[in-house]
Amino acid sequence: MFNVADSPLNGNVPEGSVQEKWDKHRFNVKLVNPANKRKYSVIVVGTGLAGGSAAASLAELGYNVKSFCVQDSPRRAHSIAAQGGINAAKNYPNDGDSVWRLFYDTVKGGDYRSREANVYRLAQVSNYIIDQCVSQGVPFAREYGGTLANRSFGGAQVSRTFYCRGQTGQQLLLGAYQALQRQVNASKVKMFTRREMLDIIVIDGQARGIITRNLTTGKFETHVADAVVLATGGYGNVFYLSTNAKSCNVTAAWRAHKRGAYFANPCYTQIHPTCIPTSGDYQSKLTLMSESLRNDGRVWVPKNADEARKPEDIPEEDRDYYLERRYPAFGNLVPRDVASRAAKERCDAGYGVGETGFAVFLDFRDAIKRDGEDTVRKKYGNLFHMYHKITDDDPYKVPMRIYPAVHYTMGGLWVDYNLQSNLPGLFVLGEANFSDHGANRLGASALMQGLADGYFVIPYTIGNHLAKMEPGGISTDQPECKEALANATGRVNKLLSIGGGRSADSFHRELGKIMWEYCGMARNDAGLKTAAGKISELRDEFWSDLYVPGAGESFNQSLEHAGRVADFLEFAELFAIDAMHRKESCGGHFREEHQSAANDEDVKSGKISEGEAKRDDENFAYAAAWEFNGVGEKPSLHKEHLEFNDVQLATRSYK
Ligand SMILES: Cc1cc2nc3c(=O)[nH]c(=O)nc-3n(C[C@H](O)[C@H](O)[C@H](O)COP(=O)(O)OP(=O)(O)OC[C@H]3O[C@@H](n4cnc5c(N)ncnc54)[C@H](O)[C@@H]3O)c2cc1C
Repeated sequence: MFNVADSPLNGNVPEGSVQEKWDKHRFNVKLVNPANKRKYSVIVVGTGLAGGSAAASLAELGYNVKSFCVQDSPRRAHSIAAQGGINAAKNYPNDGDSVWRLFYDTVKGGDYRSREANVYRLAQVSNYIIDQCVSQGVPFAREYGGTLANRSFGGAQVSRTFYCRGQTGQQLLLGAYQALQRQVNASKVKMFTRREMLDIIVIDGQARGIITRNLTTGKFETHVADAVVLATGGYGNVFYLSTNAKSCNVTAAWRAHKRGAYFANPCYTQIHPTCIPTSGDYQSKLTLMSESLRNDGRVWVPKNADEARKPEDIPEEDRDYYLERRYPAFGNLVPRDVASRAAKERCDAGYGVGETGFAVFLDFRDAIKRDGEDTVRKKYGNLFHMYHKITDDDPYKVPMRIYPAVHYTMGGLWVDYNLQSNLPGLFVLGEANFSDHGANRLGASALMQGLADGYFVIPYTIGNHLAKMEPGGISTDQPECKEALANATGRVNKLLSIGGGRSADSFHRELGKIMWEYCGMARNDAGLKTAAGKISELRDEFWSDLYVPGAGESFNQSLEHAGRVADFLEFAELFAIDAMHRKESCGGHFREEHQSAANDEDVKSGKISEGEAKRDDENFAYAAAWEFNGVGEKPSLHKEHLEFNDVQLATRSYK
């Protein structure tokens, strides 16, 4: 199924203690002097929190930036959907937080599959992010006395999450957007909206440009620069149904992968425990109910599998608050992978609620009794409103019904400590890279990572790359540019020419079902093999029976979608191979063959229960970075070994 490369992959982590690495590195990296910065140009693809903050910061430094997004406005990037909050180690509540604790919680939360040095840096710069956003005027929630308020998220026993009600992503994105627009106004950023990146231009082994298609006119464009930054978000929509915006895709990352960038840990997917359950085959989207709700909401199912009473009539003694029962130390605030699997376990055992039996209750009865409806409304009003609108149930009166759904992807393009891929000149930020969350991301840490990458990391590390090269010197007439353009146009023409009988959406839906059934919350070897085979068959069918209406040189959303589905169909096979090769359970990757058993020492000692994810540190403490060798060909596996010098490898316990 795959080859293993001989030499290990180097993450280029600087020497020194984990606390000093970033400071020393910033001193050691080469600088581009202010007068020279204006000679360099950088392409930034993506205007979400990662790309928007990067483009604004690079332009502020003096670089010439070209910024691209598929939406009609940069501020419609998917980041706008983020609800619950952003982490930082400010320790305003004085409840025991610190940079070290955020670092520790994130490494542990990721089930010890992330690079320590990156995570420490993330915790370090988290505090600057809050200062930066407050300066921009982001309206974070405040306490009565005016200090910024915090709430708790999963995997932490402190309150470190800053929030703007249930609209944190929107407010942060408006902050980044205004910083970006300031630079557009200053002519340092040239904005290209409704552009889809369809290829990377590689010249002399370096990323030097991109090919885009104008989604309004259908025209192709060639753009060259001195470096390319991809901040194109996650690929959760490979499952078809997810909480992601419909436009989220893998295209930019996958096309870069096909040009040589390694794809790391593609199987690491986050299934979020609290989403509105699927209600039928007609659905094309799932809706998240923010993790912040678990601050006050209690998760339960009836103790009797054949319970027929209404939830509000079920007395306390007949309710199973299974998270509080199984994980008393963290209770309802266990990390997402743990909470999702626990919900699945209860539903599979026959205790699920609702018409399908695939739902559990998230109940605010006690919080409303304790704090009053007004207080609950102030904290979560817009989320309750959204739930009410979608389900027609009033969560102030009856418990919400929730079930896990695909939400976030920890895998992504492999990057080193500088956020540079193995393809020199190609930097990858935000959800599009694999960097900081290991096998499971803690809630409120994606916004933190996207903004850390864009505001505080890339401004230093890209300079180190640019300082070593002469600016410019590339023309769009060069053969490499023409070849990339021909490649992108050829693929679009091929999609249009098939003339079969099925829509791209029907293929996508079928792919999603395969992914959910065999690569979802629980995976096993036989199922993953089946998935890889089915995906490959479906891909063949796609290329012989796809029907795309309309023309290429016009606005054609069916064509856009077809291109993205084609990439998902190639990517999904790598996903299954990665999941198959990782013969351990870790974080969001749960292999049924690898779970704790009654005779394990940690189970006997009471540290964990039976049936928890069981890692294999001896054989799998590495990031799996895959090299592309052709569609349907065996990929090559490059291993970056992960060292744990500051957080001791241990069995994760939230008891
Ligand atoms: C419902 C929901 C709620 C969430 N809530 C939280 C939360 O409370 N806290 C938290 O930390 N995280 C949260 N997350 C996760 C978080 O929102 C995302 O991980 C994060 O916003 C991703 O930011 P990004 O900048 O990497 O990518 P995105 O915001 O997805 O931006 C991607 C950008 O790339 C562009 N793009 C993509 N492909 C192409 C292409 N081929 N060509 C050109 N442009 C392209 C898009 O136009 C867009 O501008 C939530 C996620 C969801 C789905």
